Amino acid sequence: MELLKQRILEVGVVVSDQVLKLDAILNHQVDPVLIMEMGKEFARLFRETKPDKVLTVESSGIPIAYTTALQLEVPMIFARRKKTLTMDQDTYSERVPSFTKGIVTDIMVSSHLLHKGERVLLIDDFIANGDAARGLIRIIEKAEAELVGVGIAVEKSFQAGGNSIRERGIRVESLARIASLANGQITFN
Ligand code: 5GP
Repeated sequence: MELLKQRILEVGVVVSDQVLKLDAILNHQVDPVLIMEMGKEFARLFRETKPDKVLTVESSGIPIAYTTALQLEVPMIFARRKKTLTMDQDTYSERVPSFTKGIVTDIMVSSHLLHKGERVLLIDDFIANGDAARGLIRIIEKAEAELVGVGIAVEKSFQAGGNSIRERGIRVESLARIASLANGQITFN
């Protein structure tokens, strides 16, 4: 997606040769016009898979999952990282290493929201090693729902996550693929 690539070049901060900071558009401040265009693009790519729901994980996946779900006119669920007082006790929960925080966190979805046989589109902001996506996929499996595809805003293709999911026969679409962050330079595939 050219617009996203252009914005990444404008505002992206290369933190290291492994990590890109997009706090100006996606991970702290949100650019609503860009996020809406990203939702339209994911909806265009995945509409034919007829998702019943869009699933992401808080917090940075929420805006893009929301605009995707809005375009598809289906509900969006975000997996929580912390149990709240109001949350159902009955949850599907998975332990996932966090790429940026360097810790292991639990992600959970109320079992009342995800049902057997539902067609689920998974959306997230970045894919690095693929742990977040795999955790969400395990939650979909526990619910006996059906994964129809994975949409990722920014795939760092020099890390293994995206292809490790594709190798399982799952369709993965990314809007921008970064080949390298070496020497402070952002290079796309
Ligand atoms: P994975 O689980 O695939 O290793 O990492 C994916 C998660 O880590 C994403 O949900 C995202 O929040 C975070 N992440 C991974 N790489 C980056 C990055 O380069 N920049 C930012 N801002 N977040 C990242």
